[in-house]
Amino acid sequence: MTVCAISTPVAEGGISVIRISGEASLSIAEKIFKPLTCDNVQKMQGYTCAYGRITDPKTGHTVDDGVLTVFRAPHSYTGEDVCEISCHGGVYVTKKVLRLCLENGASLADKGEFTKRAFLNGKLSLTQAEAVMDTISAHGEFALASANLTRSGLLFRRIAAVRDTLVGELASLAAWVDYPDDDIPAVTDESLNSSLAAASSDLERLLSDHDSGMVLKRGIDTAIVGRPNVGKSTLMNMLLGYERSIVTDIAGTTRDVIEESAVIGDYTLLLSDTAGIRTASDKVEAIGVELAKKRIERAVLILAVFDQSERLSAEDEELLQMLKSSGKRVIIILNKADLDENLLSEKAFDGFEHLISVSAKSEDCRDKLVQELRSLFSVGTFDPDSTIFANERQINCARKAYEHILAARQALSSGETLDAVTVLIGAAADELLDLTGEKATEAVVDEVFSRFCVGK
Ligand code: GDP
Repeated sequence: MTVCAISTPVAEGGISVIRISGEASLSIAEKIFKPLTCDNVQKMQGYTCAYGRITDPKTGHTVDDGVLTVFRAPHSYTGEDVCEISCHGGVYVTKKVLRLCLENGASLADKGEFTKRAFLNGKLSLTQAEAVMDTISAHGEFALASANLTRSGLLFRRIAAVRDTLVGELASLAAWVDYPDDDIPAVTDESLNSSLAAASSDLERLLSDHDSGMVLKRGIDTAIVGRPNVGKSTLMNMLLGYERSIVTDIAGTTRDVIEESAVIGDYTLLLSDTAGIRTASDKVEAIGVELAKKRIERAVLILAVFDQSERLSAEDEELLQMLKSSGKRVIIILNKADLDENLLSEKAFDGFEHLISVSAKSEDCRDKLVQELRSLFSVGTFDPDSTIFANERQINCARKAYEHILAARQALSSGETLDAVTVLIGAAADELLDLTGEKATEAVVDEVFSRFCVGK
């Protein structure tokens, strides 16, 4: 089936591009495009273009003048014959050219269909296809560089190397088990264990590169927590630089989780102002507290605020307990330093390395925070040339593969049968094949491409 779509934004601009892909694309283009700089559209070579008139074959009227660019299979984005018609960038004229394509034999492309065809024709791996979407949505230099790296296939190659190790071990295990009489070298626990160790450390590095990469690319998921009235909203407003939350001195006013991003030094904090962590007495408040607890679970960084002009309350202690057991990166903020009244004992905060005494109402709170961020997130050592995963789907596959490998190593060291170990290695390899799309089910492929826009 030959499909077409508008590949540029449907808005006024200098030029619009209507893309046609599939076997019939040249014959469709021939019907609606009269070249002035060559004789015959059908004879055009790949990577060439012609200037001419876009014409409605029904009426013979010229719709616009424009440029036709031809790509011949397999040397095109989709791997099929592709024609791109550039016309003037008006919404009406662009839609009219699209309609001409539809009336002359093309069907309307689905979301992401061009990229999906590229994937199905082996032009791109699934990770590269997903990076196309990242390139389109990149809003910063790092995000763009990172998407470009993934698009170049770096992530695919790193994953493929691990996959090859696993598949290699599976093959040796199968050969050895199935043909015990042949002269096949035995798979020793040591050799298997060392391959698995290499595979798991490669995946571990990918996952940790991803974490530092995300800090730069997207920001640090940050939760501001503390009991009511300690100054959470004030802190958030100061960081964001404008009045975002409603600051009041009635305890428990901040009920919804509000998300905003604040740029502080080299860091972007994705902030959420949460309801106080406390035993809720009313229903609306209860929802806020539940959200706050969830937010701690999801957050990478927690800014825990305490009011140093008051004694540590039972709620404060409960929060400290919760933070200790969360295993998260925490910055303790002893707020209201300007009140000259310190009723908090430092001892209560034993075990927390990152502690600052500030007034959320003053700007130097920012500087103190940046210093703590620097020691918590050493993005300085992150190699911007390393690649990161594009989305949760990819991370999940990598994490599951990593866990299966750890389980396989565990099974091996506790003397379980090689069958059990083989099953776990197989499961790990499957996850990686899913990640790159080599074994992705149709449902996964459809899901991935449904997130694209039409025309891509
Ligand atoms: P939340 O309930 O934790 O969000 O607390 P708010 O941000 O609403 O602050 C509660 C009260 O404490 C407000 O009256 C703020 O003006 C006040 N407050 C917040 N930070 C400071 C500070 O650093 N110094 C002083 N003196 N008051 C503060």
